[in-house]
Amino acid sequence: MIQFYSTQGKCVKVSLEEAVMKGLADDGGLYMPEHIPQLPDSFFQKIRSLSFQEISFEVAKTLLQGAIPKRDLKNIIERAVAFDAPLVEIFPGIYSLELFHGPTLSFKDFGARFMAELMGYFAKQKGEMLNILAATSGDTGSAVAQAFLDVPNTRVWILYPKGKISESQEKQMTTFGQNIVALEVEGTFDDCQKLVKQAFSDQDLREKMALTSANSINIARLIPQTFYYFYAYAQLQKPDLPLIISVPCGNFGNLTAGLIAKRMGLPVSHFVAATNANDSVPKYLKTGIFNPQPSIKTLSNAMDVGNPSNFARMLFLDKQLRQDLFGASFSDPETESAMREVFEQSGYLLDPHGAVAYLGLSAFLKQHPGKANGIFLETADPAKFAEDVKQITGQNPPIPERLKKVLAKEKQTLVIPAEYDKLKALLCK
Ligand SMILES: *Cc1c(COP(=O)(O)O)cnc(C)c1O
Repeated sequence: MIQFYSTQGKCVKVSLEEAVMKGLADDGGLYMPEHIPQLPDSFFQKIRSLSFQEISFEVAKTLLQGAIPKRDLKNIIERAVAFDAPLVEIFPGIYSLELFHGPTLSFKDFGARFMAELMGYFAKQKGEMLNILAATSGDTGSAVAQAFLDVPNTRVWILYPKGKISESQEKQMTTFGQNIVALEVEGTFDDCQKLVKQAFSDQDLREKMALTSANSINIARLIPQTFYYFYAYAQLQKPDLPLIISVPCGNFGNLTAGLIAKRMGLPVSHFVAATNANDSVPKYLKTGIFNPQPSIKTLSNAMDVGNPSNFARMLFLDKQLRQDLFGASFSDPETESAMREVFEQSGYLLDPHGAVAYLGLSAFLKQHPGKANGIFLETADPAKFAEDVKQITGQNPPIPERLKKVLAKEKQTLVIPAEYDKLKALLCK
């Protein structure tokens, strides 16, 4: 069975359940699988005939090494991997892996849904009601709320700063009802975070109820992100050419999942770590010195991370990271030009995050000419950044039906002051 150690190295090893329910190790480190198994050759021989869900199941089964009975794992995957990740050729040999076909239009749906299913599964086994607390300034809240909707034995409390997020973000986490409670906090995002922290350190509350957080560093979010790398490979027309995959990076969870996929046997010749101006990892790849910085605001704002937490995981996964990874960072004007050029030359609309990945891939291929399959990850639907996309390319990205539906619903929230006693009273009700 799979066991996890902490990147701080001080902890005893823990089970999948403990790693998922805790999120962060007691020593402050991130959980990593102790052993990463190889997929058998037979899997790669048949991969092109398998569906996305079948591929996901094979990868999960191998990685988790019996931690969850096969039947249960199959159910979890069927609910979590419930939308496609098509590979779209936009120029000869250059592919966009579209990861935005989930309910909240970004690749974060993959991680959030698998984590929600796993948490619900473990809570049900214990026969308890699990309370998930999440402070959000926008996007994480919507992916988490969507993911836990209808998951038995779970109740989600989303805390967000009243009046400080966009209407579309707000609608995506306040219109569900059922097991999702949206709290509009009269304060800032920091106040919301403080309230959540207070709840976690309140022993009295923790004795009364099972509490967990939907943290972005939870290992459960990385596991499903390995699936689509294999599925992308399965969709290639000429799988024997060298494979280059460019990943738009912020906290580096997506790239870390790619490195795990490679360790499991995915034939990738190079990964590209593409960033915006928040370039501490590309700088490390050049100089060997990791020097985290305060984050800088950019157009690809979901990648504005100056001190990426998954860097510690990457160092554990790949001892020769600097040879295996190609790093590149791009400015906002470069990102805008890429969005315009790609649209003019191919009719394909990029969102700002996918555009950074596209630029990273182009830079790599320029330095390493020759026949190859080049894949860049398109992590968000351009409709999610409709105003920027319109301004930069002159094009209105089509708004998907599932977003229109949510926008038409009424919000249901509770307004609370930024006072811990008020939050606690609600939680205990
Ligand atoms: C979160 C996010 C990223 C960055 O992913 P990491 O796993 O944090 O590196 C890239 N693009 C979009 C659209 C995102 O939401």
